[in-house]
Amino acid sequence: MLEGAVRVLVVEDEVKLASLIRRALLEQGMLGDVAINGEDALWMAGAVPYDVVVLDVNLPGIDGFEVCHRLRLDGVRTPILMLTARDGVDDRITGLDTGADDYVVKPFDFNELFARVRALARRGPVERGPVLTLGDLSLDVATHTVTRAGVEIALSTKELLLLEVFMRRPGQVLSRYDLLEGAWEMDYENRSNVIDVYVRYLREKIDRPFGIETIETVRGAGYRIRAAAEQY
Ligand code: CA
Repeated sequence: MLEGAVRVLVVEDEVKLASLIRRALLEQGMLGDVAINGEDALWMAGAVPYDVVVLDVNLPGIDGFEVCHRLRLDGVRTPILMLTARDGVDDRITGLDTGADDYVVKPFDFNELFARVRALARRGPVERGPVLTLGDLSLDVATHTVTRAGVEIALSTKELLLLEVFMRRPGQVLSRYDLLEGAWEMDYENRSNVIDVYVRYLREKIDRPFGIETIETVRGAGYRIRAAAEQY
């Protein structure tokens, strides 16, 4: 047992690469555990106080973005380093937007990977998740706390996820498909009217008691949360 060693969770479905990273980490004096899918990563990262999570974006089932998003939603503040196969700016932004701290583009240089892992391990756990605000509405992504004009509002997990999708895109028209993609599992079956139902729930909680309408229906297109400037 290496006392005080940096402990890393490596989330990678390519088993060969995963064990290569694990072995190389050990040579560097760091301990690596491997999760080969998102489901394992979610419980492992929740159960063990890792110093860093190295998270591949391309995973079967729950992908790396979703894993990252859910970990942050579950209050896991371990620094996350994303491995992205594509050099696209969109991927980097999506990664950082879902709560990742850094990213490395595949194929990566092992020395670069270790340097970044060490830097994140030194920095320590993320202090707190972002607080999204829109007018007097605020959503603390780390603590799941929603308030309107200082009044705390209790939301279910699905309502929180849906509100977060809206609040990250103020003023944008979002189709039912966009909203499903943002807040539901990829394989969710009963897609027919679930968004309409949950938008209604959200309105009942964040708008109606306050006598305002921030989530508006855009006929034939979907829904939009009004940006702060339009709110009053
Ligand atoms: Ca992969």
